[in-house]
Amino acid sequence: MGGKSGLKTLCRLLALYRPSLGWQALGLVLALITLLANTVLMATSGWFIAAMGLAGAAGVTLNYFTPAAIIRACAILRTGGRYGERLVTHDATLRVLSHLRVWCYRRLEPLAPAGLEGQRSGALLGQLGRDIDTLDNLYLRILLPLAVAVLASLLFLAWLAWQSPLLALVQGFLLLLGGFLLPALLASRSHHAGRSEIQLLSALRSDAADGLQGLGELLLHGATQQLHQRLERHGRELGRAQLATSRWRNAGQAVVGLSAWLTLWLFMVLVLPEVAQGVRPPAELSLLALFALASFEAVTPLPLAFHALAPTLEAGERLFALVDQPLPVPEPEGPAPRPSNHGYRFERVWLHHPGSAAPTLRELDLEIPPGSHTAIIGPSGAGKSTLLQLLVRFRLPDSGRLLFGGSDIREWPGAALRQRLAVVEQDDHLFIGTVRQNLLLARPDASEAQLRAALERARLGTWLEQLPRGLDTEIGEAAVRLSGGEAKRLAIARALLRDAPVLILDEPTEGLDRPTARRLMEELLECCRNRTLVLVTHQLELLPRMDQVVLLDQGQILVRGPHGELSQQSEAYRRLLALSPLIGK
Ligand code: ADP
Repeated sequence: MGGKSGLKTLCRLLALYRPSLGWQALGLVLALITLLANTVLMATSGWFIAAMGLAGAAGVTLNYFTPAAIIRACAILRTGGRYGERLVTHDATLRVLSHLRVWCYRRLEPLAPAGLEGQRSGALLGQLGRDIDTLDNLYLRILLPLAVAVLASLLFLAWLAWQSPLLALVQGFLLLLGGFLLPALLASRSHHAGRSEIQLLSALRSDAADGLQGLGELLLHGATQQLHQRLERHGRELGRAQLATSRWRNAGQAVVGLSAWLTLWLFMVLVLPEVAQGVRPPAELSLLALFALASFEAVTPLPLAFHALAPTLEAGERLFALVDQPLPVPEPEGPAPRPSNHGYRFERVWLHHPGSAAPTLRELDLEIPPGSHTAIIGPSGAGKSTLLQLLVRFRLPDSGRLLFGGSDIREWPGAALRQRLAVVEQDDHLFIGTVRQNLLLARPDASEAQLRAALERARLGTWLEQLPRGLDTEIGEAAVRLSGGEAKRLAIARALLRDAPVLILDEPTEGLDRPTARRLMEELLECCRNRTLVLVTHQLELLPRMDQVVLLDQGQILVRGPHGELSQQSEAYRRLLALSPLIGK
């Protein structure tokens, strides 16, 4: 990552951290007080013990009240300060993280679904979670220790310069070299080694998750050995990479320790002659020696801070890259249009999926009158689902116009439009939770009776009766498992509950046995009377019941019109009908 982009990321991250600035500043003050108290405690104790010993040997009395009081005060301050600092800094971090999660979600939401395509949802979620967790380093492990180190070092050096400029020079040089420069240099080496560690770790994770999910298949094919070997190989490589990283990281810490002891020795060498000449009282030797050692505590966390800096900025950069994507479906500025009806009109609509060779929809001209029932049929890949995505404003036409209620779909805020739609997608997602919670998503104020009626209409009445806790039965991975057909019908019940003027259904009866599918469709058509219905279906026997049928092929409308008309006039349509012996039965 370039220095300039790193700086930009840092500035943007800092802006996100602003809401808890007060807590962060308080954390800094407490951390600084704790560190100063510890250094004063060490230095005064050293001086006090030596001075007492010397006074005892010389048989003179010494005022021990003041130093003892200072020691006690510093000990209390250090302990209390450390506790307060941990409390405040962690609180500040958790506040920032929760703010960051909400911010990130708000930015991601308008990108879905078109903007997040091409990202595997599991991998995206995992990476996002890890990146946000990594960002808790920024204040706690990077900025706070760095700020404390700089401020404390300046205070220490100022005091030391007052005592002896030469000692200040020695300590300043070693603090700068051993506390800041060398650890920063070593951290950049460890970051280099850390890159392969991250790659190996993610390979190991995805192998393990993939293997776990497909364990049944692996057992059936007797292929567990290969997975085992792959995991073992990745594990070994990861171990080697971790060793390399920790070598550099530990070298950074060793340099700080070494510099602290070197400073102590140099202080001895410089101060001993002064003591011997009687220029400096002997007890000050231990004061300065312990001060030198304790003051390096200010820079002790820096190797880890430098080590964490690059991965943290990279996490921030990844996060920004994700949320900065241009909105694939921008929201309009103005208020929602007032629709004159609930019909759609396509006017020369083209749509090209990014990355695909040919346009998915070509020059569609189509009228879906309000209250009419339209079936969209066509072979797989014809563009049926894409057409539905236009209707729900998950995508916008590349060119041409799509009107809903007489207004361009671009002028419709997504939420206002979707309030008028009830949609059943091909793979409608059911959330982990109760049946009731899944239904209430569609209509939060629905009464118990309405919920039951919707299930009844979706042919789930008997199913509901058999559930151990009725509407409050948990469904999902770890609870009651739904068959494909039950899941589909529950999604339909959810759509029916919405009571919206427009129903958009993508193969709603796929996977159901024929009698159930037929009864369900009867019910659906019945409750869609006077509502606009757009239905993608392979159930050709339904076509005579629809007001118009649209036959799509390779993104183009081959023919459209009422079933009776098409079956007389269109050869392509007749060929298609020939595939379904059930028509008209
Ligand atoms: P249908 O629903 O009729 O089976 P789709 O609307 O799902 O067809 O797809 C129409 C064409 O668009 C297919 O060729 C498909 O590969 C392509 N397509 C669908 N979604 C995307 C996408 N997100 N990115 C690129 N191509 C896509």
